[in-house]
Amino acid sequence: MVRELVVIGGASAAQSTAVYASRAGVDVTVVADEYGGQINNTDVVENYLGFKSIEGPELAERYVEHMRDYDVEEVLGHRAVDIRRPDHFEVELENGEVLEALSVVIATGGSRRKLGAEGEKEYAGRGVGYCAVCDGPLYQGEEVAVVGAGYAATEAVDYLTDIAEKIYVINRSEGFSGEEITIDRIKEHDKVEHWENSEIVEFYGDQLLEGAVIDKNGKEVTLEVPGVFIEIGTKPNSDLTGLVGKTESGRIEVDSQMRTGVKGLYAAGDVNDKGVQQLAVSVGQGCIAGLNAAEYVKEVREGKIS
Ligand SMILES: Cc1cc2nc3c(=O)[nH]c(=O)nc-3n(C[C@H](O)[C@H](O)[C@H](O)COP(=O)(O)OP(=O)(O)OC[C@H]3O[C@@H](n4cnc5c(N)ncnc54)[C@H](O)[C@@H]3O)c2cc1C
Repeated sequence: MVRELVVIGGASAAQSTAVYASRAGVDVTVVADEYGGQINNTDVVENYLGFKSIEGPELAERYVEHMRDYDVEEVLGHRAVDIRRPDHFEVELENGEVLEALSVVIATGGSRRKLGAEGEKEYAGRGVGYCAVCDGPLYQGEEVAVVGAGYAATEAVDYLTDIAEKIYVINRSEGFSGEEITIDRIKEHDKVEHWENSEIVEFYGDQLLEGAVIDKNGKEVTLEVPGVFIEIGTKPNSDLTGLVGKTESGRIEVDSQMRTGVKGLYAAGDVNDKGVQQLAVSVGQGCIAGLNAAEYVKEVREGKIS
């Protein structure tokens, strides 16, 4: 059996793709290891238009409910591990099952890079965060720490200077890298204290994070902060295909229509190289990918393309 459109992913980009493609009259199959995506890791979303404040998991659930208003086939519980194109597309799942399809949208998002420090997992979402722009406002007038000193970290520190009382920047090496204008701003800022050659060894607390033990220049110190943002970048979940062009950091290259270099194969959301990594963008890109993939499927159906 050859399916019409297979969408790989289980969150905003995938579910938006599924809704738009279904409404355009195409049979859609969604393949996901699990539903929710990154938004499951945040307490509150306050910048998604139409919802002044909504818990991340609730918004994720609403996406699924909305998708289920349509006749979408769901293949859950297994990651897709390969995409081939011998004739039609073939999507291989980790259990060995292969789904054939006329068109495929990759919406596998990204995973925040983790530190691997003790207690990190335990306090994730309870003081340890991976997105200062999303959760920074929760620490109005408080002291926080940012781990990293690259592009993501410098942007995070810059953003937090308007919110927090003080920002400790913890980084393993020396100096900052990122945009000069941002670096100049934060280097001079009296709220920012840069701890170079420093590394978090352990997070501690009770129900919520209370602080971190840090190896500061070879000396172990304790930093009492209710919030630590680990901003050492995101890893795109793009390993499942070698068919498409990717940036150095592994993001799938697409054009403004979410097309990869392979006809009928699209990528939407955080996994691609377009736009800021936010829900509004991934939902919008899902719309574009869904409509274009539907158009492509119809042309194959009508024999206009093979
Ligand atoms: C802590 C945190 C807080 C955030 N807060 C906000 C916020 O307040 N506002 C905002 O706009 N944005 C926020 N973001 C960013 C937002 O979550 C992302 O931009 C958005 O989730 C991207 O959606 P996506 O569908 O592209 O990918 P993801 O959310 O990463 O979802 C990818 C999905 O694909 C599945 N998947 C991955 N690989 C495979 C595979 N091989 N096979 C099958 N399934 C696979 C995953 O399980 C997941 O379901 C936050 C991010 C984080 C980490």
